[in-house]
Parts: sequence; C-alpha cells; structure tokens
Amino acid sequence: MRIILLGPPGAGKGTVAELLTVRHGIKQISTGDILRSEVKNGTELGTAAEGYMRRGELVPDSLILKIMENRFLEEDCRKGFILDGFPRTILQAQSLKTILAGLSMKIDAVVNLEASDDLILRRLTSRRTCSNPGCQAIYNIYTKPPKVEGICDRCGSPTIQRDDETPEAIRQRLATYQEKTAPLIDYYKNDPAFLSIPSLTPEPVADEIARLVSERSR
Ligand code: ADP
Ligand code: ZN
Repeated sequence: MRIILLGPPGAGKGTVAELLTVRHGIKQISTGDILRSEVKNGTELGTAAEGYMRRGELVPDSLILKIMENRFLEEDCRKGFILDGFPRTILQAQSLKTILAGLSMKIDAVVNLEASDDLILRRLTSRRTCSNPGCQAIYNIYTKPPKVEGICDRCGSPTIQRDDETPEAIRQRLATYQEKTAPLIDYYKNDPAFLSIPSLTPEPVADEIARLVSERSR
C-alpha cells in the first residue's frame, strides 16, 4: 500500500501515518523527521537545511529530492510506504511521479487532511516532540501527554517544543503552506486515488483510507 498524506502543518499527518504504519506494516517516510535528524547529526544536508526549517520556510526542492530519489528502493519500503510531508511543492509532486513511474510503483491513495486554522494553531502550540533523534515520538499536552510529564514514554528522553513551533514560525509555516503546498490539492484532485477528509481524530481517517484502498483494488 502506498499513500501520500497532504494537509497543513498540524493537520495530524504524523499521527495518521503512525496509525497506518501499525495497522498495515508500511513504512512512514517523514521528510521533516529525516531533516531534523540530519540537523541533529550536523551533516552537510542538515547544515544546509537548518535555517529554512527554523524560519518555517521550505527547504529547497533539490535537497529534498536528493533524500527521496533512492528512498523507495530500501528494504523497509517492501510492503509500501506512507509519505508524510512530501511532496510539498508542485515540482516535488512532478518529480515523485517520475521517480515512481521509473520504479513501476503506483500510489493507492492521496489523502488530504482538512483542518481549520483554529485547530491547527491549538495543535501546533500544544505539541511536544521527543528530543532523541532516533525516536522523535510526538505528544500533545492535552490529548496525548506522556505518562510522566516531560519524559518520552518510548525512550525516556526529555520531550521538547520544536524551534519551529514558536508563534512567528507557526504563522510563517502556515503562509508557506498556503503559497507552496495548498496548490497540490488542485494538482491531485482529479486523480481517482484522491480523497479529502476532515482530520478530527486519526482512527476514522485511517479507516476511510483503508476502505478507499480496498475499494480501488477490487
Ligand atoms: P510540519 O509539522 O510543518 O508538517 P514537518 O516535520 O513535516 O513539519 O517539516 C518541518 C520542516 O522541514 C518544514 O517546515 C520544512 O522547513 C522542512 N521540510 C519537511 N519536508 C519538506 C519538503 N518536502 N520540502 C521542503 N521542506 C520540507
Ligand atoms: Zn523518545
């Protein structure tokens, strides 16, 4: 099963992706997580990406495409994958199409998660992320707090608020989304695999995706 998740920051792409990973054994590929771990490790790519990320801007397409080019051939993508945070521009979507065509891979669902600005703001300011780059578990101080405040359930590292989750950075990320990423909805909307769903809680979204995919494979 191969899925693309679209939607504004804070729409819950990560949570839905995690659920699908557990249910269907497919790999979650989050370009945001990959970039954050490159930044933490001080790699060349991380150094190049860091400033854009802190400001809430997009990292240049060329860097992202370098990460994604050979990603689908890795062993962990055997059962499929769920793309969370990629593509983010029309150019990335066009490049993805070319890459997948070259591998004879087809996308089963392109899912747009709809969320109001209110919901997005509330979610982004209440989010906490595990500081361990190898874990990056996501929590929410209201809806999904860790068992011990400030400590990751999974690995025991401190949970932190990301640099790009300050109010200014959040405003910038939303503006960037409107300008660069929202046009992807038009790009995909006539695709038979396209589905747009309100993102309230992750379970019904995951159910709906599973239903669409099984319907389409019949
Ligand atoms: P969000 O919560 O905004 O969905 P992500 O974790 O997906 O956050 O991404 C964090 C940051 O990483 C983005 O603000 C952007 O700077 C960069 N980034 C992630 N994916 C991409 C991409 N596909 N293209 C360009 N920049 C990206
Ligand atoms: Zn952790």
